Amino acid sequence: MDSLPLLADHPYASFLDQVEKPARYAGGEVGSVVKDWASVEARVCLAFPDVYDIGMSHLGFKILYKLLNDDPRTLAERCYAPWVDMEAQLVKRGLPLVSLESARPLRDFDVVGFSLQFELTYSNILTMLHLGGVPLRAADRGEDDPIVIAGGPTATHPEPIAPFLDAIVIGDGEEKATEVALTWTRLKREGVPRRERLVAIARLGAVYVPSLYATRRDPDTGFEVVDRPLVSGIPFPVERALVDLNRYPFPDESPAGGPEAIFDRMSIEIARGCTEGCRFCQAGMIYRPVRERDPEQIVDTVMRAVKKSGQDEVSLTALSTADVSCISPLIKKVTERLTAERISLGVSSLRAYGLEPDLLDELKRVRATGLTFAPEAGTQRMRDVVNKNVTEEQLLETAERVFSRGWGKMKLYFMIGLPTETDEDVRGIVETGARAAGAGRKAAGRGKPVDVTVSVSTHVPKPHTPFQWAAMDTLSEVARKQQLLRDTVRPYRAVTLKTHEAHASVLEGVFARGDRPLADVLERAWRSGARFDSWDDQLKLSVWEEAFAHAGVDRAKYLGTLPVTARLPWDHIDVGLEEGFLAREYRKALQNRLSPPCGKVAGTFVHHTNLEDARADERRLVCYDCGVACDMTQMREERLTFLDRLGAHKRSLPLVTGAIAAAPPEAAAPPEAAAAPEAAAPPEAAAGAAGEPARAGDAAPSRPEEAPGAAGGAPRAAGDAPRAARVPQGRGGFRYRFRFEKTGPVALLGHLDVVRELPRVLRRVGAPMTYTAGFHPKPDMTFSPALSLGVISLDEYVDLRLERDLDPAALEALVASMTAASPRGLVFRAAVKLGPEDPSVSKLIAGARYAIAFARSAIGGDAEATLAARCSAALSAASLPIRREIERLAKMVDVRQYLVRAEVGGPEVLSALARAGLAGDLVALDVEVDIRGSGAVKSSEVAAVIAGEPGGAPGAITPPPHRAVRLELFGRAAPAGSAAGERLSLLDLERARRVKAAPERAAPASLAADAG
Ligand code: SF4
Repeated sequence: MDSLPLLADHPYASFLDQVEKPARYAGGEVGSVVKDWASVEARVCLAFPDVYDIGMSHLGFKILYKLLNDDPRTLAERCYAPWVDMEAQLVKRGLPLVSLESARPLRDFDVVGFSLQFELTYSNILTMLHLGGVPLRAADRGEDDPIVIAGGPTATHPEPIAPFLDAIVIGDGEEKATEVALTWTRLKREGVPRRERLVAIARLGAVYVPSLYATRRDPDTGFEVVDRPLVSGIPFPVERALVDLNRYPFPDESPAGGPEAIFDRMSIEIARGCTEGCRFCQAGMIYRPVRERDPEQIVDTVMRAVKKSGQDEVSLTALSTADVSCISPLIKKVTERLTAERISLGVSSLRAYGLEPDLLDELKRVRATGLTFAPEAGTQRMRDVVNKNVTEEQLLETAERVFSRGWGKMKLYFMIGLPTETDEDVRGIVETGARAAGAGRKAAGRGKPVDVTVSVSTHVPKPHTPFQWAAMDTLSEVARKQQLLRDTVRPYRAVTLKTHEAHASVLEGVFARGDRPLADVLERAWRSGARFDSWDDQLKLSVWEEAFAHAGVDRAKYLGTLPVTARLPWDHIDVGLEEGFLAREYRKALQNRLSPPCGKVAGTFVHHTNLEDARADERRLVCYDCGVACDMTQMREERLTFLDRLGAHKRSLPLVTGAIAAAPPEAAAPPEAAAAPEAAAPPEAAAGAAGEPARAGDAAPSRPEEAPGAAGGAPRAAGDAPRAARVPQGRGGFRYRFRFEKTGPVALLGHLDVVRELPRVLRRVGAPMTYTAGFHPKPDMTFSPALSLGVISLDEYVDLRLERDLDPAALEALVASMTAASPRGLVFRAAVKLGPEDPSVSKLIAGARYAIAFARSAIGGDAEATLAARCSAALSAASLPIRREIERLAKMVDVRQYLVRAEVGGPEVLSALARAGLAGDLVALDVEVDIRGSGAVKSSEVAAVIAGEPGGAPGAITPPPHRAVRLELFGRAAPAGSAAGERLSLLDLERARRVKAAPERAAPASLAADAG
């Protein structure tokens, strides 16, 4: 049943709190930009085909959002795929999918730009188009429909999704996004027909317009390939766009303060591209050449981003961060600056050989969990095949170093299904893990726990990689190899094996190397219910089986070995590689031959970390003439300049890498750092591509729990966190109590999200908090009891410690500045300084007053009289039992024990409702309840026992549609344990000091969840 609308004028207002994580759809984050539609020439909806939590970590999205909104001619708004519960609501109610900023349907925009990160998000693109009111197929769109474009790593092999897109941007999106949007709207204003507008877009270059190309069936493979352009003057093949990154500094701000994103930190792209040449990694091929951002610009961006975001953790990201030429002096410089601010620094994608002892010591100070590495293959032969430059000796040495420092866990990522793989290679995966555990046990010492987790995914051959012609293992072969892994691991108790469900990987493999006829399969599967196919619990295999069968498409042809001479469905997309380069690499792979990293001094695997060494080394830089034509002289010069700018003139102790010249290879953290949606990656398309291209072999890179490094929380890259150590403070600083309100979108934000946000608000306004002591220091603060989602509050409190001693005027100014630095609806009203003797807010709180509002029509008749009678009955009752369910466990709660007062709300309450943003013909209850250490009741339970109807499970009572507003939290000016007493303002310290807090008053953490 719908509640009273919480967000005025939002189309989802009446049911937002009926869906999981409603704040995903509410907008209002700090840094979100709402521009006047009439003031711009082109309006772009950046559409991410996965949930908010994943899309919000995407770097390319952030780049394009800032770029388009900084341009006075354009605006950008965001839209993420609605989770299945929200989709069901929209369908049921006939409502469109709308953007976060202005709540407009996708069909209202001039441009809808999708980010193509991963093949298994294609079905979500169809959902978003359909719900957004945009015809699914490009061929069905009319003159006034938006242009639907896309970009991202998957845009380099787009045929299965091509019929649903008007245009696809290939390569970097920084310039193309604006160019496409403005060209499209200018021509539309001039009355140019849609098809001619599309031709003009295609002629911009780096844009593929599928409808303007003819296809034909290739006799060798049976694939439908793109054959020729249908109009003159459009490119064939379509070459990618490549920008000078330093003309587009990484954004120092982006929307923040909504529900927690999978990567909850400020990530800064420091380079694009990778030199390592892993043969399974598409990112390493399509983002060539490596382009490094100016380190001075990076340092400036980091410092501004910290200030604007309020984040206390920054991450420097690249496909392989350890291979950025100036990474050591850069980390040193950034660390120096951040240490003063007490900000942690994470560095993604360090590798096994990069973990020098001093760096591990640093890591150990801030991380309790284990570390993660990605050797990818279990034998040296297989690592040579995939060009993973790491030796087992390096891996074992790293294991020793890790476990000797007290870590008890280490995680290793591998793939099965790689070309030429034998059973010995498969068993080698477990055996490598076992040897790492053995080395670790020796290093850890007697009795110390040692656990090595071996996580094994299935390799998916990706277009534009040397393995694009290789066969993918069949499901039965994957199952056999997984069983072999399980059999092999049995004797090794220190090794934990994790294998991944392979059905999704096979589907990914089909769509990765798929052609245009797969669009029919996709549409049919989508119409039959395919959604969020990268989420194991959402993938509907039977739906896909039926769709393939119905279209008469044989999946086997997409999964087998392809002739190197065949024309492929992605050959019309030119990512810059010379014809023959991939085939040469493929042949080398089949001969177990390595290709050392390019762009580095021949014979070395790490860059010089100081000017002196770099200048003295006159050896050539390695190049394979892959086709992207790097200027090696300029590359060398640029690196010298960067070292100079960082002041790295003389040799000193390396912070990150030790020179291991001559020793080959290293590696552990893969370019699949690429897999992490948050790691650096370009905004290859208007839609915001950026982001890590899905890693070949990862079953579900876009899914938090599945994607190693990408989403699972555990950073994939070794390290992901050498940090500027935060100084544990423990009860230092100065104590204050703040009063604030939660209305609008913030009332839909979970309590933990608000807890995360507050320290950031304070950082944004330059008033950092102190941290607790201990291994994982946290901002030192205590909140008043948490509210249920959707409950508004006009009277919330938090006790916290700030570093600075503020006089009353400064404190008042601080309070005034905090609201502007907060998400919409978080409003700070007052603050007082606490003395050491002042009891904490949790000890003082003894009760709450709520207004519980109903639409008059929901009560019926003489609503006030009805409610008054119900209040009398409730107060006269000896008990008011109600069933409460928490995580499927039910218990009975007697609301009467807590109910102090209940009456019909008068004018004061109605005006409070208006202040809380509630409008309409309302009638309200005005209730007061006790909050005790032993428990509390929810406002919904009070609404139920007074105005609801029993039904459903025994003891269950359903309240009428309502909206609760916490009007007041208070203490009692009476001895602890007494039933009542004069109410005490929590800001009235004089009186509070006279009230002796007793344990009975203390509201335990568990109470928090029940008190709303
Ligand atoms: S041109 Fe040479 S140095 Fe540049 S990416 Fe290609 S192989 Fe590497």
